[in-house]
Amino acid sequence: MSSQPVSIVGAGPTGALLAILLRRRGMPVTVYDSRPLHQSADAGRSINLALADRGIHALKTAGVYDAIRSAGVPMRGRMIHDRHGGTSLQPYGQRPQEMLLSISRERLRRALLEVAAQQGARVNFEHRLETADFAAGTAQLRDLRGDRLLHVAMRPLLAGDGAGSRMRRCLVEHGLIGAQEVDLGHGYKELSIPAGPDGEYRMAHDALHIWPRGGHMLIALPNEDGSFTATLFLPNRGDPSFATLEDPAAIEGFLRDQFPDACALMPHRVREFQARPIGFLGTVYAASWRHAGMTALIGDAAHAIVPFHGQGMNCCFEDCVEFDTCVGRHESWEACFARFEALRKPNTDAIAAMALENYLEMRERVADPDFRLQQALALELERRHPQRFIPRYSMVMFHHEIPYLLALERGAVQARLLARLTAGRTNLAQIDFEDAAREIGSLLPPI
Ligand SMILES: Cc1cc2nc3c(=O)[nH]c(=O)nc-3n(C[C@H](O)[C@H](O)[C@H](O)COP(=O)(O)OP(=O)(O)OC[C@H]3O[C@@H](n4cnc5c(N)ncnc54)[C@H](O)[C@@H]3O)c2cc1C
Repeated sequence: MSSQPVSIVGAGPTGALLAILLRRRGMPVTVYDSRPLHQSADAGRSINLALADRGIHALKTAGVYDAIRSAGVPMRGRMIHDRHGGTSLQPYGQRPQEMLLSISRERLRRALLEVAAQQGARVNFEHRLETADFAAGTAQLRDLRGDRLLHVAMRPLLAGDGAGSRMRRCLVEHGLIGAQEVDLGHGYKELSIPAGPDGEYRMAHDALHIWPRGGHMLIALPNEDGSFTATLFLPNRGDPSFATLEDPAAIEGFLRDQFPDACALMPHRVREFQARPIGFLGTVYAASWRHAGMTALIGDAAHAIVPFHGQGMNCCFEDCVEFDTCVGRHESWEACFARFEALRKPNTDAIAAMALENYLEMRERVADPDFRLQQALALELERRHPQRFIPRYSMVMFHHEIPYLLALERGAVQARLLARLTAGRTNLAQIDFEDAAREIGSLLPPI
């Protein structure tokens, strides 16, 4: 396998990191992407991303973290904004390394592609995958610069072509796999919070800001240049929704009513709201990710999720490391693909479920006193029983060694325990910690 040329479709985070890892094995790698090299942020895609432990671990494994780290802005907790402009900070974890890095999507893309090219990967931009002929074992790509059709042998071709994957759709059209794209029914728009006159941040920059409002929410992540990128998540239909907010007065009225303190920092809010597209949010469920030893889906192409746990790209990076390990352990591409899918799919299904649950947590529960007490108790139980009790959020965000599925399973046990221990209580002093210790000892084996 090691001398066989590999084609990768998609030079997003997944395709770029995969190219680096496979080049390190000495494999000849050619990457194709439909976009030009110098296209700035994708229309309608998030401008910045939260990079967490799983992503950081994968970047370290590939030897590229040091090239990227300085571009990130650390975020140590959630800053919750109430309807009257009041704020409160909920720390994400309790150790210095338990933070997220807000990183520019474009900087990350360029850094990864630069390393991939330095290591000898050939990257062909403006090459779009159009279709695949599974009987002949070839994929058709169009060179958009000369409008030429290329026939590329799938020996193999790895498809990291994102949530709307053309390869996934080809596999479905040929009856080779089943897959569904489930629409969340909510979309998003990005709005900007510019830096102050001297380039300073106009809110705390070491936090991810959230304006939870029940059925919808606004969030904001810091950028390196003193600005923030805010994202409004809202239903597509109903009231309020993107369907009811069309004229400038309605948009302005809604934003002012719901997010008065944020409005004071967003001078271009109405213009941006009108100009920017509504981003699609959904989950991809594919029954299988591969066909013979010819092609395999990886990253969002295989399992796109909603962005509410900030894990989509982190999960894709973890895919790349796990895929690379499978490459090292198997003699044929077919066996490698089968093993990758068997190991990875239960975990990507788990993060898909947790990401959906987290939407409710972010837009509603973070403002609820019972939830806050449970969160404070979870951190206290972690202090007292660090080997056995780790809050689910921390397992997902700060512990790459804990698979997503295990985080989901242990999280369910912990959630029941937290609900029982806090029932009818309003503060930590009222908690029966002896009872908690007994239950933890019997329900949660050491990790
Ligand atoms: C609003 C929002 C916020 C998010 N925030 C976070 C976050 O904070 N943290 C996090 O971890 N994740 C986040 N994500 C998820 C993250 O963006 C994705 O998981 C990640 O981009 C997936 O990487 P990918 O390379 O698999 O796919 P993509 O990033 O979609 O890249 C696919 C690439 O394939 C190319 N391509 C597509 N079709 C073709 C074709 N036919 N032929 C050739 N090339 C093609 C595209 O041009 C693109 O370069 C967020 C997503 C959204 C929508």
